[in-house]
Amino acid sequence: MTLDTPVSQLWRVGKVVSKIIRSLGIETCRDLIFYFPYRFDDFSRLVPIAELKPSMTATARGTIQLIENRRSKNRKVLTTALIADGDHTVKAIWFNQPFLVKNLKVGDRVSLSGKTNDNYYDLSFVSPAYEKIGSDSVHTGRLVPVYSLTSRITQKQFRTLQKIALDSCLSQLTEWLPFEVLKKENLFSFQESVRAIHFPQSDQEYERARARLAFDELFLIQLSALAAKKQMSACLSFSIPFDEKATKRFVSRLPFSLTETQKKASWEIVQDLTRDTPMNRLLEGDVGSGKTVVCALAFVNVACSGFQSVYMAPTELLARQSFEKIKSYFGESQPSLALLTSSQAEYWNGGESRVTTKADVKNEIKQGKVHIIIGTHALLEKDVVFQKLALAVVDEQHRFGVLQRQLLRGKNPSGELPHLLSMTATPIPRSLALAMYGDLDLSLLVSSPKGRRKIITKVVPSKFRSWTYDFVRKQAQAGLQTLVICPLIDPSDQLGVASAKDEFKKLSTEIFPDLRVSMLHGKMKPKEKSATMAKMAECKSDILVSTSVVEVGIDLPKATVILIEGAERFGLAQLHQLRGRVGRSVHQSYCFLLPSSKEKEETERLKSLVRSHDGFALAEEDLRLRGEGDVYGRRQSGIPELKLAHLGDLSLMKKARDWAETYIDRLEEFPLLKGRLEERERDVHLE
Ligand code: ADP
Ligand code: MG
Repeated sequence: MTLDTPVSQLWRVGKVVSKIIRSLGIETCRDLIFYFPYRFDDFSRLVPIAELKPSMTATARGTIQLIENRRSKNRKVLTTALIADGDHTVKAIWFNQPFLVKNLKVGDRVSLSGKTNDNYYDLSFVSPAYEKIGSDSVHTGRLVPVYSLTSRITQKQFRTLQKIALDSCLSQLTEWLPFEVLKKENLFSFQESVRAIHFPQSDQEYERARARLAFDELFLIQLSALAAKKQMSACLSFSIPFDEKATKRFVSRLPFSLTETQKKASWEIVQDLTRDTPMNRLLEGDVGSGKTVVCALAFVNVACSGFQSVYMAPTELLARQSFEKIKSYFGESQPSLALLTSSQAEYWNGGESRVTTKADVKNEIKQGKVHIIIGTHALLEKDVVFQKLALAVVDEQHRFGVLQRQLLRGKNPSGELPHLLSMTATPIPRSLALAMYGDLDLSLLVSSPKGRRKIITKVVPSKFRSWTYDFVRKQAQAGLQTLVICPLIDPSDQLGVASAKDEFKKLSTEIFPDLRVSMLHGKMKPKEKSATMAKMAECKSDILVSTSVVEVGIDLPKATVILIEGAERFGLAQLHQLRGRVGRSVHQSYCFLLPSSKEKEETERLKSLVRSHDGFALAEEDLRLRGEGDVYGRRQSGIPELKLAHLGDLSLMKKARDWAETYIDRLEEFPLLKGRLEERERDVHLE
């Protein structure tokens, strides 16, 4: 068996199981062993049966003296067992697992992990995890990994597969970090860390495994940043002079005045454009901070010198909304604009826009008759040829990928690379952004435009849930919409954590049968997703139940309420972004945080969110909170490349940066490192 062996060929994996596993994005053994647990059950406390106490989480070992099935009054199967260790015994009870008596026999030595009941006189483990005592313990008596799974596969099944895959393939993982780095930083080897990230012997071992793998992520990011910087500085671009008159005219026509930080960012961009090496700038600004107008101002300058600009949004709907917005900034007799996506082709040159064919728009682009082309990433495709492309903007993305840059370069017949501007609403503090995106210059929009209402944010205790639903209904009756965000897509075994599918069923049939409820999640086809979003944008649904995929940056002017289920499970920065999906209009908007259990109502993060509306301040706060030893919490960093590294890993980031500087010019000597870097560039691009 190799790392590339399909999981379906693993021991005892039938069609059904392999399909379920595939739905988690796992095809091969490699995919499997890189599917990391998100938390652990700490069953490492081994307690002699004589010392067990009520309500204790522990592992006990002993011999089965008796095991039998019984039917309870409500016809459920109850399995009870008596486990003995010398003179002492403890009971174990399982519900509805009649097959247990086939696996566990009298005389078997077993290990049980779980929680005891609270009855001192009839002490029992209730539904404990169990395994026969043999070689390695996997399910009991240790830190037991818990994975994010669908309800159709049990943790135990998955863990067993994971163990098989690790046992047979781990030895094939080749170390790709240079020996010097491993030694000087005292890092775990690649194999050691992948094993321990699943089956650590202790907290400390887990942390070292995580640190090694987090270092990998950061090191690769730094290497590709440095590689990009090197490449960029060797490229030529078009120099665009600052057109003061046109800029002033543009600004004076806007229905608002620019904020100080909008002016500063615009100035930084316009300055970059005057150089003949390509700009590579990231414009960061909270949702609603007004990034579009800043890039439109750059478009004006580019167009006035007779060059073209392209703006790429992650989805068609966002492309359409940006097209409309940019049009509205230009008033009449301004540069010509085109919208080009797989299903839309429009041309605008002041006044009404004209719907036309894609071929027509492409032709105009080629001849240089359109100055600003707005669409999705499909604009990078081969058949879109520009005459003189001087500026490329990607929205809702942190940076241009290597491939994107290559394609853009190919867009200009003479090979110039356009100036690059990426825009994102993920507020990363400056110190961190510099560490993460060392090759980029940064512009920040820190203040939001005046006159915008604060989104009223509240943590809602569970007893007020129905009040919240009444509130949602009233909003709907007034023609306003609600977003309901759930942490999971599918129902899972994690008690009390809402899934989009369950929630959708509940809301559409029980709570709001009279309202139009729709659903959105990452496993839907792109077409279905955009149709659902379009329905929301056109107010053809009242309530959208969704995972956190609901598009960043989309304008849903009638969406005034966002309900976040299992709110404590999201990172602070992510919660803030989710909140930004509402509050885009004159209507007062609301963000209700519904924690999944009572104890979670008081978390620092939720309190911070209620207190503050400043994305950057919250990001700093997030950093502080995460810094406080969040050992197992694989909280999302909001940055897709970071699976294990989190924003608190500042010193690790610094180390990664220093090492990247040492190795960037020596890649040829380290083919494994070079290979890993190329692999990453491909992955990042595919994501
Ligand atoms: P984002 O940064 O999320 O892309 P947008 O560019 O979509 O934000 O801007 C959000 C809204 O704020 C738009 O309707 C835009 O016209 C408006 N806006 C932008 N700048 C200002 C400003 N300085 N004053 C008032 N409104 C502004
Ligand atoms: Mg935007």
